[in-house]
This record gives sequence, structure tokens and C-alpha cells, in this order.
Amino acid sequence: MASSSLRFAQPTFPNSILKTKTNTFFVSKSVFLTPVPNKGKASNAHAITKLACVNKTTEIAACNQIIGDVNSKLTPLRIGIIGFGNFGQFIAEGLRRQGHFVLATSRSDYSEYCKQNGMQFFRNMDALCEEQPDVILVCSSILSTENIIRSIPINKLKPDTIFADVLSVKQFPRNLFLEILPPGFGIVCTHPMFGPESGKNGWNGLPFVFEKVRVTDTGAQAEKCTQFLDIFEQEGCRMVEMTCEEHDRHAAGSQFITHTIGRILSHLNLESTPINTKGYETLLQLTENTVSDSFDLYYGLFMYNVNATEQMDNLDRAFETVKQKLYSRLHDILRKQIVERVPMQGELRTKSTNSLSYLPDGESIKKLASLSMSEIKLSEAVTVSSPR
Ligand code: NAP
Repeated sequence: MASSSLRFAQPTFPNSILKTKTNTFFVSKSVFLTPVPNKGKASNAHAITKLACVNKTTEIAACNQIIGDVNSKLTPLRIGIIGFGNFGQFIAEGLRRQGHFVLATSRSDYSEYCKQNGMQFFRNMDALCEEQPDVILVCSSILSTENIIRSIPINKLKPDTIFADVLSVKQFPRNLFLEILPPGFGIVCTHPMFGPESGKNGWNGLPFVFEKVRVTDTGAQAEKCTQFLDIFEQEGCRMVEMTCEEHDRHAAGSQFITHTIGRILSHLNLESTPINTKGYETLLQLTENTVSDSFDLYYGLFMYNVNATEQMDNLDRAFETVKQKLYSRLHDILRKQIVERVPMQGELRTKSTNSLSYLPDGESIKKLASLSMSEIKLSEAVTVSSPR
């Protein structure tokens, strides 16, 4: 891969110099290089943002060597996960893959799981906080988060600890963190837009939303925050920096709608058929994915996102609109038959009476009319009896 896929800024103030066989690099925390968007090379590109290369024609292979050097010099983070259920375990796997230490605590006992997966489990929050992790990563259900955060023994933590969360709503945890945490604590709100189902084959290309709500510009906290976000970048996530407000607006119109449709479909008990279309397969998959998440999660998406009610109303209206479109067309046909005596296409005359059997009986008409908002009045429809 040639160096043309990266643009290098001029180094300003080198903090240290690294030498490879072919090149000399200034590693500068103050210089941020702009990687040219290049799919599949995201992780390299990000790591290189930390490097200022003296030689603009340097090849990526050489840079990779430097990245290795730099990464190996960084101390792995100690990340304390609070809430070690479905998603907590899933995310912990990625943190571990990237060489960081996972410490966990939860309402339930996951000590056996942790033992088998090279992680450390603590039976309570006090014990976890005494370990003074660099990052506290909140992975609890949206509904339980406030109680959980309020019960964290903050005084046991280092004064520059970074608090991060993965909640599927963002304004709520951001406000909670800002309200509860002392000013020295860092705050990074994140939402990995994938889960154990959609991310089971890797995180490459999957969106990772984050907002650095309160992080120092320089120093240990800034470095640890970068190191923490690097985990997801190195896993190939598509990093999307946006405010918590923006996130909640987008998520209500996309994720909440998706979950709602999945929940509705799950009440239809859909089954696979011998003639599944691609679209139907998608619906089956959606239903399966949606119901594999807890109802608490879905309720949290509704209750803790200020935009969710509006989307629910929009969905309701959209369904009514579609229904009305169908039923009003049906009414047009019925009216033609009733008023103009036009037989329906393909209708047969009954042998015995030679009369037309195209009209439904009065009761059916009444039902159809009640389903529609068309301009035909119910009273007009029911007074017409079918000529049987
Ligand atoms: P969840 O039902 O939203 O949360 C389960 C977690 O919350 C478990 O760790 C559980 O602890 C804990 N919990 C629930 N009620 C509790 C209570 N009353 N007191 C203390 N802890 C309680 O399911 P999840 O899928 O694991 O999601 C966890 C978080 O990740 C949520 O905030 C969700 O929005 C976010 N997230 C999920 C996904 C996903 O695809 N699932 C994707 C992105 C983000 P125990 O297991 O110990 O009982």
C-alpha cells in the first residue's frame, strides 16, 4: 500500500523520535494528521493520527511498524464494567481482544464467566472501585442506570477517572454524569450501534457514536480517552462523533422505529414458509433480533428518549394512512357496484337466479365501511341490501 492514501501534516514539536530501518519519525501529541478516508484501513489511519512523519513518502508498512512500537509503549487500560449482562459481556470481549484488562461487577454473579475469559469479577461496586480502574464503563440497563450510578463509591476512584457508557439513549446518561460526577472526572458518552447479534462476526464497518462530553485537552486523561476510543477504531468501527442530542434525534427515527416494528411483528408469530421472499426473510430476521433484546431495553428507548413519543405517533399515523388508502379504494369499488351496478371482474352469475353475486351482504358492507374514513357515509352503505 503506497503512502498516497494518507496525508501528513508537518510535525511541529516532536515529543520523541522513533527510528525504523528505513525512516525516522517524530511522535508528536500536538500534531494531528488527517487520514484520507480509506475504507479497510481505518485502524491504521487512526493510529497514524498520532504520528508526525518526517518523510511524506513513507509507506504505510513502515508506519505500521511505528504504530506497533507506539502501541507497545502504551500501558493497557484497566476498564471497570458495571452491568455485565448481555451487552456488557459482548463489549468486554472486544476490550480484551485489544489487550486491555477487564474488571466487572453486576447485580448477578458472573465470576465463573470472568474466570473462563481472563477477566476479573467483583461481587460489589466497592470492591471494583477499590481497584481504581482508568475507565468505568457503564453497561447497565437504561432503567437501572440512575440507581447504579448514584450508588458508585466515587471517593474510592482516582480523581481523573473517565466515565463512559454504552446506553442506547444519550442525553439521559450525559445529564446524569454531569450532575453526579465531580468536575475532575472525564465523561465520554458512547453508543455502539450494534450488539451481540449484529456484531457477532466482528465490528468492522459498524457505527460507533461518541461524544467527548468532558475530557481534558492534554495530560493523562486525554491520552486515556484516546486510548479508549482507539479500541473501537482498531476493531474497525466507523467512528461517528456527534452530540448526545443529535444521537437521540437520529436514534428515535431509526433504532426506535426498527425495534417497534420488530416488536409489532413478533406479535404476529410469523413463521418461515417454503416460499419466503427476501423481504420476508428480512422481517423474520428483524423480529428475531429485536426480541433477543430485553423488553427493558426497548422500554428504555421509549421512556428515556425525548423524541420517541413523536416517532410512535408518526408510526401510528403512517399505519392509519396506509389503511385508509386501501379501504377507501375498496369503497370506490363497492360504490360502483352499489350505485352503478357494475359487476366485479370475474364474478359469475348464479345458475338458479341468474342474478349477480358480486355484492357482499349488508353486514360485510357495514364492517368495511367502519374501517374506512372515506366520504361514503355508513348509513348510505348499510341501507343497500345485496341482490341475492
Ligand atoms: P439490558 O436489559 O438493557 O441490561 C441488562 C443489564 O442491566 C445487566 O447487566 C443487568 O445486570 C443490569 N440490570 C438490569 N436491571 C438491573 C437492576 N435493577 N439493578 C442492577 N442491574 C440491573 O440488556 P443489555 O442488552 O445487556 O444492554 C445493556 C446496555 O447496553 C443498555 O444500556 C443498552 O441500551 C446498551 N446497548 C445494548 C445493545 C444491544 O444490542 N443489546 C447495543 C448497544 C447498547 P445483571 O445481568 O447482573 O442482572
